[in-house]
Amino acid sequence: MFPHLTRFNLRNWIDENRGDWGRRRVIWEDSDFIVFVTRGPNTRTDFHINPGDEIFYQLEGELNLHYLTPDNKPEVAVLKEGEMFLLPRFVPHSPRREDGSYTLVVERVRRPDEDDRFVWVCRSCTHQLYETTAHFNDPADAVAKAYEAMAEDETLRRCAQCGQTEPAVRSEGPAFVWRG
Ligand SMILES: [Zn+2]
Repeated sequence: MFPHLTRFNLRNWIDENRGDWGRRRVIWEDSDFIVFVTRGPNTRTDFHINPGDEIFYQLEGELNLHYLTPDNKPEVAVLKEGEMFLLPRFVPHSPRREDGSYTLVVERVRRPDEDDRFVWVCRSCTHQLYETTAHFNDPADAVAKAYEAMAEDETLRRCAQCGQTEPAVRSEGPAFVWRG
């Protein structure tokens, strides 16, 4: 993490750490903003519902930002290198990343009374299958536990509306940046 009032070269920083990036690297988090760079690929199927807005800036490769409209229709914003996107608060979204892609993400630090929600929906009809709530500063990882519960129990992945069963997906680790 970089100190405040310090400038640095984002491109050089990525180039210097490319071989060992992991999933994400935090630039700043002890401010009004959490700023990090995420690298693909990923396999997440959950939709995150953030009480704050999020900004995505695609640095390299492609990001397929799946989201649900207010009437629960699935949409995808495809971000190519150099493109950016502001996702309004409370829009369920599932960023799906191409291998080797890099995205700069800016989120707002949550207030103590705010919750993040994570929902899983049926791929065929977007009916909700499962939901969990997580507090940003809670060390227990509710999202990883939800993935485990669904992987173990097929009935949690079966759609009550159309009957389709989603495949089991294992968690990729902590949902929040400060722990990953
Ligand atoms: Zn369904």
